[in-house]
Amino acid sequence: MTQETMATRAEQLINLENKHGAHNYHPLPVVLSRGQGVFVWDTDGKKYYDFLSAYSAVNQGHCHPKIVKALTEQAERLTLTSRAFYNDALGEYEKYITNYFGYDKVLPMNTGAEAVETALKICRKWAYEKKGIAEDQAKILVFDENFHGRTITIVSFSSDPVANTNFGPYTGGFVRIEYNNVAALEQAISADPNIAGVLVEPIQGEAGVNRPDNNFMSEIRRVCTNAGVLFIADEVQTGIARTGSLLATCGDCTCSHKCERSAQPTYVRADMIILGKALSGGVYPVSGVLCDNEIMEVIRPGEHGSTFGGNPIAAKVAMAALDVVYDEKLTQNARKLGEILRSRLTEFAKTNDLITGVRGKGLLNAILINDTPESSTAWDLCLALRDNGLLAKPTHGNIIRLAPPLVMTEEQLHNCCDIIEKTFKRFKK
Ligand SMILES: *Cc1c(COP(=O)(O)O)cnc(C)c1O
Repeated sequence: MTQETMATRAEQLINLENKHGAHNYHPLPVVLSRGQGVFVWDTDGKKYYDFLSAYSAVNQGHCHPKIVKALTEQAERLTLTSRAFYNDALGEYEKYITNYFGYDKVLPMNTGAEAVETALKICRKWAYEKKGIAEDQAKILVFDENFHGRTITIVSFSSDPVANTNFGPYTGGFVRIEYNNVAALEQAISADPNIAGVLVEPIQGEAGVNRPDNNFMSEIRRVCTNAGVLFIADEVQTGIARTGSLLATCGDCTCSHKCERSAQPTYVRADMIILGKALSGGVYPVSGVLCDNEIMEVIRPGEHGSTFGGNPIAAKVAMAALDVVYDEKLTQNARKLGEILRSRLTEFAKTNDLITGVRGKGLLNAILINDTPESSTAWDLCLALRDNGLLAKPTHGNIIRLAPPLVMTEEQLHNCCDIIEKTFKRFKK
């Protein structure tokens, strides 16, 4: 038999990707063919708990029937009109989502990176037309270790050499400062009157679930308000119930929507919110930027857009996805399960010297592995977790993110903690 015929179906599929696809990812070797709720199945029918949730796009669980139904029903009726014409789903969706999050207007796009670009464009235009910054002088503050997507402009202000080496020349107009450092923020804003906005992740997901001090968001709000600078929250990964509140900037508020969030002492209202990922429950690329009229009105016909942005499938899917978050109380569940996960793993870490720390909020968590970022320990642990029926992926070499779908039950979570503990106990370097 040749090498090829001996390969299992999974190996063949991996080889196909290796041979014909660009090598811009390094996936864990497991080939998935089905998903339902918190579970995925590989091509051999082996079942796994999904502890990545497609980077928090699948907060509502895989193939949620309500969201899939919205997709298939709309797909049979009308898929795309472009924005050259009106369609009968977009207005309803725009009313729904702005009411849900409490902003005047939404600008619909498709991917997270596009929504980030959209927010940056709105911020710059606002800087020139409302704040009075001189032509081409506007700057936007960003933070070390940020992750906002993969376009040239976004990687231009990344601090990760893997993300931007040899992709220059870079887009100017960004100033990067230390994350979670209020003094640096105040200093940067007072030093430069051309700063128009601050773009921030409430928790840095890709950087390894880097959670700032509890008051960092309210401090950004205070500094931005005092300086007349826009606070732009990238909630693509942290938003939509992931961290145990509707948005991570909602602080400790657990209500699901249409709420009195502003009455909560920890609630912070950003000037612009960027959403993506779980906005569709992972069934379709849907993203958007939310802000109030005095900001959004700087965008006029022809000045920004997308062929697919605001298409009727996206509109119906996003409404269903947000309905699920509310109906199934996913904010409350993420908060409750996150506390159980962290307390169990923190306890366990005391008995296991592979773990140096456990951190996170809601169901966006990470365990820090006691080895260097260059070591293969975290990767090998993820292979062992896979063998034991749980899928997670290392980030930055020695950090393992733990972010299951938010529809998980308490019993399932305990089961997952058992798997993690068993795997770590038996692991030999
Ligand atoms: C994933 C992510 C993005 C980019 O979203 P894409 O859909 O991959 O373009 C932007 N910001 C944050 C915080 C993200 O986690």
